[in-house]
Amino acid sequence: MNQSIKLEALMQPRTIERILAGVPTSDGAGVKLTRVLTQNLQQRLDPFLMLDNFRSDDPGDYLAGFPDHPHRGFETVTYMIAGRMRHRDSAGNEGLLQNGGVQWMTAGRGVIHSELPEQENGVMEGFQLWLNLPARRKMIPAWYRDIPRPEIPEYATDEGVVVRVIAGTSNGVAGAMHRKDTEPLYLDIDLPADSLFSTVFPATYNAFVYVYRGELTIGGTQLAESRMAILANTPQADGVVLISSGPAKAILVAGKPLGETIVQHGPFVMNTRDEIFQAIKDFNEGHLADTR
Ligand code: MN
Repeated sequence: MNQSIKLEALMQPRTIERILAGVPTSDGAGVKLTRVLTQNLQQRLDPFLMLDNFRSDDPGDYLAGFPDHPHRGFETVTYMIAGRMRHRDSAGNEGLLQNGGVQWMTAGRGVIHSELPEQENGVMEGFQLWLNLPARRKMIPAWYRDIPRPEIPEYATDEGVVVRVIAGTSNGVAGAMHRKDTEPLYLDIDLPADSLFSTVFPATYNAFVYVYRGELTIGGTQLAESRMAILANTPQADGVVLISSGPAKAILVAGKPLGETIVQHGPFVMNTRDEIFQAIKDFNEGHLADTR
């Protein structure tokens, strides 16, 4: 870990535009989760399409997992804070996602995969973020990378804030993943009591913060546990400042909007209805995904 990194100076931190609680739902074969970034926010938070938060110590909430299902047209980023999940896909990839590890999967033209818990009790906690692909790259071959916890760059500030840089660059520290079209910044930030954290990113990026432990203050507004703040895209805003009173943990997600039409039908996210019909047809006819 890079110790005691110096925070880059901010002139005009962002304020909160809107606070949301997310929607309790279930997905897969009945996994209970909170959909934090819902479909009605896709335009506003372009290039991000979805964020699910799962956290339970009741096996009944997660044991069924996500059996074989398809995706096309975007990327999924799964961050496993606690628990173990086995991934298998049609391209022949297999991996065990656990204890702070990330799985970055590009569905591209198509993948069929399963995500199944490999534990019968204990806590399962994590996030799945969906990141859009630009129109010209939606049909690229499927791709996959397992990023175990030690491969995720981490830094600490003088005040003891510990930051894990899953994607993008924060305070000079390059993260585990980079994407040219959308330049996603994805941070997991662990703040001790009475600390301040800041990170720089452009005013044009759409950005949100989700607090998963404790509470934070952003731009003078309090953000409670399990709440998402959409950050205002004020011209000249150069980043965000998070202030804690008690210990808190949050993820920050920011990225460059694609500005393209988004058409989602379940696990397929394309630019037109015709492309969705094609995806459904390809899936039904058994050639959505390249198989090994
Ligand atoms: Mn999936």
